[in-house]
Amino acid sequence: MAKPIVTIVGRQNVGKSTLLNRLAGRRISIVEDLPGTTRDRIMFDVDWQGREFTVIDTGGIETITKTSIARDVNDQIDEGIAAANLILFLVDARAGLLPDDIEIANRLRKTGRPVLVAANKAESNRVEAEALEFHRLGFGEPMAISAYHGRGVAELLEKIVSLLPEEKPEAADSREVIKVAIVGKPNVGKSTLLNVLIGEERVIVDDVPGTTRDAIDTQIDYEGRSLLLIDTAGIKRRGKIEAGVEKYSVIRSEEAIERADIALLVLDTSAPVAAQDTHVGGYIQQAVKGIIIVANKWDLTYSLDKAQYIKYIRGEFRFLPYAPVVFTSAKTGEGIKDVLPELIKVYQERMKRLSTSKVNDVIRQAVATHELPHKAGKRLKVLYATQADVNPPTFVFSVNEAKLVHFTYRRYLENKLRQAFGFSGTPIKLIFRSRAA
Ligand code: GDP
Repeated sequence: MAKPIVTIVGRQNVGKSTLLNRLAGRRISIVEDLPGTTRDRIMFDVDWQGREFTVIDTGGIETITKTSIARDVNDQIDEGIAAANLILFLVDARAGLLPDDIEIANRLRKTGRPVLVAANKAESNRVEAEALEFHRLGFGEPMAISAYHGRGVAELLEKIVSLLPEEKPEAADSREVIKVAIVGKPNVGKSTLLNVLIGEERVIVDDVPGTTRDAIDTQIDYEGRSLLLIDTAGIKRRGKIEAGVEKYSVIRSEEAIERADIALLVLDTSAPVAAQDTHVGGYIQQAVKGIIIVANKWDLTYSLDKAQYIKYIRGEFRFLPYAPVVFTSAKTGEGIKDVLPELIKVYQERMKRLSTSKVNDVIRQAVATHELPHKAGKRLKVLYATQADVNPPTFVFSVNEAKLVHFTYRRYLENKLRQAFGFSGTPIKLIFRSRAA
């Protein structure tokens, strides 16, 4: 299940950055500067006593009552608000209730989302008492906090968590449902592909910005297996939003990837591979998810040779040499029949379980035929290896000193495992444990 989202809204200078930093602590995750996004930190995850949620910062709404707010700033605010399970409306207890606050409150009320008011800068009891005037905003009792001193922040987190939707544990047999995320830049054909895969025009079109934004998964059955296409509502929306708000769709697709077993990374073959494509590919790899590159719009690109295009893809996605490439035209239907079988194949690769003796045969040979790394007179010893888990395939190596394993050697071992066992379409995880001497 996707992490709930808390969106922070407020005028500038109410202390939003201070609160963000306090909430983020050291667990901040930076959204990198993709094309069409700003460099600002806009989201991070918070773990409060085991409950996780994502915080989105909309930036300050200073001039809301005045003219000339850049349109896309407004859109970003709307997108951030629409994505929220809870809106945290930050006001300034020392400044008191201002017309801008009332304006913002009216705007928030229209969204129908739950709103929690926090009155910041309530450092003294007097100010804390005055914070009560924010009752008039109509969102229930305001919480008095001091982001700077940390006062009331624990209570605030407590309250936030209590207002978030309950986490539903995934069904016990969820492993048997193959969870798939369809990701890629806008306009590459994700929605079209989704529709052909679903086999009907059963889509949740939502043209009104800022209305329903809840994840909608679609289940399809294929040859006795169930595939769950994740957050298809998000896919439907993505082509329709403008560049400035693209970052929220990036958040959405990252969340979809987190929940998935396998991601279909859709590319438009009529355009060159862009930084955003490789960024998403990198994210899928880091999340240790399966990946299939869907080379779509092939009907526009017939003049290219498939082998040549694959070579080009391999060059652009050097870190994904194991990703199968499927050529499709979501428009004409060509190649679509290959997508689901490839998904099943990759899933089987991810679920493959090897006996410890097979793994050790391969590793023993690998270790014997390549110089072992050493440092300061110490040489790596690989004692044994075993497959500890599936989906993703995870191998644990017992070694004398894990520090001695560097990147090139790790890659060497990974290649040996792949040569012997395949694992097409999935990253594999190698864990090195030092055995106490
Ligand atoms: P999304 O933003 O990734 O969901 O992209 P859409 O599915 O909305 O597709 C964007 C545009 O590309 C639409 O006009 C589609 O009709 C078109 N399109 C999608 N797939 C193909 C394809 O394989 N070939 C061609 N020629 N056009 C396609």
